[in-house]
Amino acid sequence: MTRPRKICMAANWKMNQSIHKLESYAKDLENFSKPSLSKITEKLHVVLGVPAPFLEKAESIFRPKKISISAQNVHWEESGAFTGETSLNMLNEIGIQMTILGHSERRTLFHETNNEIRLKFEKALSKNITPILCVGEKIEERQTGKTFAVLEEQLSSCLSQEKLDGKNFLIAYEPVWAIGTGLTATRDEAHEAHKFIREYLEKKISKTVAEETRILYGGSMKQDVTRELLRSTEIDGGLIGGASLEPETFASMLNIAYELSP
Ligand code: PEP
Repeated sequence: MTRPRKICMAANWKMNQSIHKLESYAKDLENFSKPSLSKITEKLHVVLGVPAPFLEKAESIFRPKKISISAQNVHWEESGAFTGETSLNMLNEIGIQMTILGHSERRTLFHETNNEIRLKFEKALSKNITPILCVGEKIEERQTGKTFAVLEEQLSSCLSQEKLDGKNFLIAYEPVWAIGTGLTATRDEAHEAHKFIREYLEKKISKTVAEETRILYGGSMKQDVTRELLRSTEIDGGLIGGASLEPETFASMLNIAYELSP
């Protein structure tokens, strides 16, 4: 099976882990990776989305292993009176090249709007930081047949730039009802949503952008469903929360993704 895009396996640690365990996580990831972490990172794009205070140390430990470190959120302003926020310049200063944006926990718990996410997305691109833009429907939206309308609204509010380059951003389809709940979307459900997103990119931006953009699946992705989900070549990898906290489990998911990579 030829895959059109390089698989990306991105961990989202959320507000978990300890900075003092970064070295042992790295060591365990090496130990459990088959055939080896270096072979895996040649074929896969591996990303760790870590809490802000870990970013610089994580970058120094994982960059030599060819693993990208990602922030989990960012503010669009350059600097100023925004207590508790992190600017893109600050990420640039410590060599961070990626950030998750618009995660459903940010949308729900911190009331982030599509417009704010658009400002963050556009600013991230302008600062050469690759956003992983999260989109996804709530259970009541799925049950009332609104999944595609919700996805379209979330996408259209962010992806309005004409000069988008599919290599400079990723999308994570994360059905909200699957995040942290143990419920995973079936391959068919995920495939259908990913296909919708890709068709949207083709229609509204360009065929090239649609072909290049990696669309990850997120929502209780664990070892047992990794192979099944990645069998769809519409699914270019995963954004993995809970299952990424244990290096052994995350490594076993990387091993599967490696096997499925050409
Ligand atoms: C996430 O945090 O983006 C996520 C998908 O979490 P989990 O894998 O725990 O559902």
